[in-house]
Amino acid sequence: MKALLSGVVIRTGGASYIVECDDGRTVRCRTVPGTVSDNEGASLVAIGDRVTFRPKASGTEMPEGVIDHVDRRRSALVRRRDVRRNRSKEQEQVIAGNIDQLVVVSSAFDPPLNRRLIDRYLVFAESEHLPLLLVVNKTDLADPELLEAALAPYRELGCTICLVSAARRSGLDELRELLRDRVSAFSGHSGVGKSTLINLLVGRRDLKTARISYRTGKGVHTTSSATMLRLPGGGYVIDTPGIREFNLSGITRENLRFYYTEFLRYMPDCGFSSCTHTVEPGCAVAKAAESGAIDPERYESYLALLESLESDG
Ligand code: GDP
Ligand code: ZN
Repeated sequence: MKALLSGVVIRTGGASYIVECDDGRTVRCRTVPGTVSDNEGASLVAIGDRVTFRPKASGTEMPEGVIDHVDRRRSALVRRRDVRRNRSKEQEQVIAGNIDQLVVVSSAFDPPLNRRLIDRYLVFAESEHLPLLLVVNKTDLADPELLEAALAPYRELGCTICLVSAARRSGLDELRELLRDRVSAFSGHSGVGKSTLINLLVGRRDLKTARISYRTGKGVHTTSSATMLRLPGGGYVIDTPGIREFNLSGITRENLRFYYTEFLRYMPDCGFSSCTHTVEPGCAVAKAAESGAIDPERYESYLALLESLESDG
């Protein structure tokens, strides 16, 4: 019997998984009833997983193997539960495992910088303890001063921000440096240039066509799966479906206020210890937003997000 090998799952689809070995070779693997996972209650295998597999002799083009063991995930992006299938014992559907950072691609202009969406990602990243990198693309279309003004609150928060233009190929070296040797989950609103950027980073042109669709569960609905691509300088990019598909159950009406980290220093001065910073008299956060000490748009986005959590029940 051949010795066990290990690698990273870079693609999932149907019943098989493509595993990339440390030497760059790819092997088509499947699971068996004896496959052991260190991740209880979650998808057996997901993109980004480190697995150990037993290679099989095969006559086909791509070598094949059987997954023996799935290592514990350091982190996981989990898919939102389908509310129509409200089964409490349902497993966590993992979009991707072992993510090192969440990369939010936004656009400086056309579409305009979507601050509400950036705030949602920031909250999500805080709640998941994932570092966040904000990439602002299409800087060729924006007035630099206006852009800096829009980004000032995020610079103040200590956000890592990378300004790029895929069209002009500017800022890409800095971005490559921020991605090197890490597993980065790319996300963003459509039209911001995410695919253009990923294609430039990985040095290929076919991301959109490489996206594969597969049926989940019993074929109730079709979703597009994440795609994991190796960066020439080391590390991987995972193209993810976006925050609408993420499980946000870690964010609640009660804890949202702690994820707006600039609120924290004002909170002790609120009149009520359980202040939601909405209508309470003597709210120090609302007062700071009024005076401009807290960015008023950030405060507005907090109120809007809180309300959306309320209507979600
Ligand atoms: P995605 O939906 O985020 O994957 O966006 P695409 O990569 O499909 O890009 C959307 C549009 O923006 C395309 O027409 C791109 O050519 C264009 N685009 C991408 N990057 C830039 C950029 O840096 N500057 C400008 N002006 N246009 C860009
Ligand atoms: Zn308050």
